[in-house]
Amino acid sequence: MAGPRYFRTDGIVLRRVDVGEADAIVTLLTPFHGKLRALARGARRPGSRGGGHLDLFTHVTVQVARGRNLDKISQADTLAAHAGLRTDLLRYSVACAIGETADRFSQEAHEDHELYDSVVRTLGAVADGGDPELEMVAFGLRLLDHSGYRPHLAACGRCGDELTRVDSFHSPAHGGVICPRCGPVVPGARPLSANALAMLRLLQSDDLATARRVRRDAELRREVEAFVRAQTAHVLERDLASLAFLQRVRQLS
Ligand SMILES: [Zn+2]
Repeated sequence: MAGPRYFRTDGIVLRRVDVGEADAIVTLLTPFHGKLRALARGARRPGSRGGGHLDLFTHVTVQVARGRNLDKISQADTLAAHAGLRTDLLRYSVACAIGETADRFSQEAHEDHELYDSVVRTLGAVADGGDPELEMVAFGLRLLDHSGYRPHLAACGRCGDELTRVDSFHSPAHGGVICPRCGPVVPGARPLSANALAMLRLLQSDDLATARRVRRDAELRREVEAFVRAQTAHVLERDLASLAFLQRVRQLS
């Protein structure tokens, strides 16, 4: 087999499926190997070297042994446990949405340290007390941009006219915001308030510091999140299952 038999990598646990009595198959997002699926023997035994540290959303360094069919994790050390994601249901469900989005946009054996850095930064912020929904939509916009689907927020996605800060429309099929003249003639276009457009622009320019200071009422939050969700679903040609889970969590609270 080509290449070294063992290698080390940092990673963040995106998925974890228990198998057999004590093992788990984990999907790690890594900076240089893309998505990596590997067997962690004894993952469910306390204190196990192989996989005791491989809880969902944990940031780890692992040693991986190349396998014929499936790689194996021979050692795992925690860089950040992100315990805050597993003790708060809203933060957990937001982390699930971030993890599923990252999973869908990433590939196996494909170097993408920018995506990796973005996931690590976002999950860290959500775990450490950041506004979970704001971090989630900022992450979604960054990811769309990074994947070549930067939403139109400066010029109408249909006619190309400059968008001023007025009530406008959102048409996922046109790649983002469309102007007040185009909106009414596009089937399925949804109204988007001037404030939501302004907030999306702040987040797209990665100005989270300013975005955090803006008063965000429930309607503004809903609009901004719905924009990113619809635009992401259009690109992926499907909605994310984890967002239905997030919806249910919100109804409980
Ligand atoms: Zn237009």
